[in-house]
Amino acid sequence: MSAPKEGFIIPASISHAALGQVTNKSLGVRYNCAQCAASFSLSKNDAIRCKECGHRVIYKARTRRMVQFEAR
Ligand SMILES: [Zn+2]
Repeated sequence: MSAPKEGFIIPASISHAALGQVTNKSLGVRYNCAQCAASFSLSKNDAIRCKECGHRVIYKARTRRMVQFEAR
């Protein structure tokens, strides 16, 4: 009974982000390559191409929570 369960410990940065404001400044949008099916994220300034094989046809990956509501 003295051993605490590990695995449920969430880093402060992640838990703080999960509370409400999820900034996508550094994360960007996740994409999947149509050629090699690699998953990667691109920001608005990045070129639309796969970072693994350089293929230009990529699909936007499903994001878990993309909907944000602003409480007014
Ligand atoms: Zn690729």
